[in-house]
Amino acid sequence: MNRKQKLSTICVQGGWKPKNGEPRVLPIYQSTTFKYETSEQMARLFDLEESGYFYTRLQNPTNDAVASKIAELEGGVAAMLTSSGQAANFYACFNICEAGDHIVSATSIYGGTYNLLSVTFKKFGIECTFVDQEASEEEISKAFRPNTKLLFGEMLSNPGVMVLDVEKFARIAHNHGVPLIVDNTFATPINCRPFEWGADIVTHSTTKYMDGHATCVGGCIVDSGNFDWEAYADKYPGLCLPDESYHGLVYTKAFGKMAYITKATSQLMRDLGAIQSPENAFLLNLGLETLHLRMPRHCQNALRVAEWLESNEKVAWVSYPGLKNDKCHELAEKYLPNGSCGVLSFGLKGGRDVAIRFMDKLKLVAIVTHVADARTSILHPASHTHRQLSDEQLKEAGIAPDLMRLSVGIEDIDDIIADIKQALE
Ligand SMILES: *Cc1c(COP(=O)(O)O)cnc(C)c1O
Repeated sequence: MNRKQKLSTICVQGGWKPKNGEPRVLPIYQSTTFKYETSEQMARLFDLEESGYFYTRLQNPTNDAVASKIAELEGGVAAMLTSSGQAANFYACFNICEAGDHIVSATSIYGGTYNLLSVTFKKFGIECTFVDQEASEEEISKAFRPNTKLLFGEMLSNPGVMVLDVEKFARIAHNHGVPLIVDNTFATPINCRPFEWGADIVTHSTTKYMDGHATCVGGCIVDSGNFDWEAYADKYPGLCLPDESYHGLVYTKAFGKMAYITKATSQLMRDLGAIQSPENAFLLNLGLETLHLRMPRHCQNALRVAEWLESNEKVAWVSYPGLKNDKCHELAEKYLPNGSCGVLSFGLKGGRDVAIRFMDKLKLVAIVTHVADARTSILHPASHTHRQLSDEQLKEAGIAPDLMRLSVGIEDIDDIIADIKQALE
């Protein structure tokens, strides 16, 4: 991939490029509107004949600077910020799907996204078939239909931390003439850039490591600019045929490699409006400035905790791609050679009851729903997010009753392990 600067430099200085006399630090453009001298100038903006700011629901300079930093980090041509990760995945799919269309998705994905694809999209007339991401190409290919518009997967699944075989998924998608959309939330571009392995669109819940301090819910969509929509023009009329709501403008003709993200901004954001506030974008940018320092520490700490747990006799099992005997270790070595993320899962001998007693004894490690921020935290799905289910139903949902999801932070490793040790004792 042709990058001008290294990732660390982009984290710190990407996006906002101040001109002579302008603020060194990205300013918060806390303004809904932007002023023009003539009515004619404003009219050209509304017709997408010129680019410029007029209303923050469509574009805002603070948000654009942060989106462009994330696009640079992922090696894409353009990006758009959204109000949340949920909104990012919704827009990323809905930008190229409509009633009567079909999606193929990996099963091992975030619960909120699973719900979006399986329940909410169905109400829009869009169906989704879920596939086991570890199945063969032939098996996964059987899920495709003539009206399938995209393939979806998570680089590192939440909460199972399974590694996606992106090259395999990209091959399957492209063999069927559809783009691959990859949610890269847990890996972040510091540990993996899915575009380098054939993904076409990348999404993020910036709420997690990108913000990294658990202050702002947010999301982002990045376009690689690589998918040839025109080659499948009949499949993607929204991009390749005239848009009635812009006097017959054709996105692929007018914007080339930027067609997908321009349509997402000028049509979906215009009509649905889930923008990120400029103030949240400012805070997200502060998080991004240290992403390259935090990710290695998250991974280093998580591996140490995973190894420590694995060697403890009270621990029944540990799942973390960094462990040599983990089922995803080989894929992790290929796609995430510098580390995966700070999230791991494990179970204690004695099951559900022991897990609850263990968690209540933790002091430094907090019980919270959030994952992937600077502070170490833990969640027990059987007692929290999935507490209505019996042990039998939990198994069917693929969640062991004793499974605890540990999100390892960037505190001193000795203190994290000491807390887990005292709680186990
Ligand atoms: C949290 C999460 C989401 C949803 O993001 P929100 O910002 O909470 O809306 C989507 N995908 C993954 C992988 C996540 O971890």
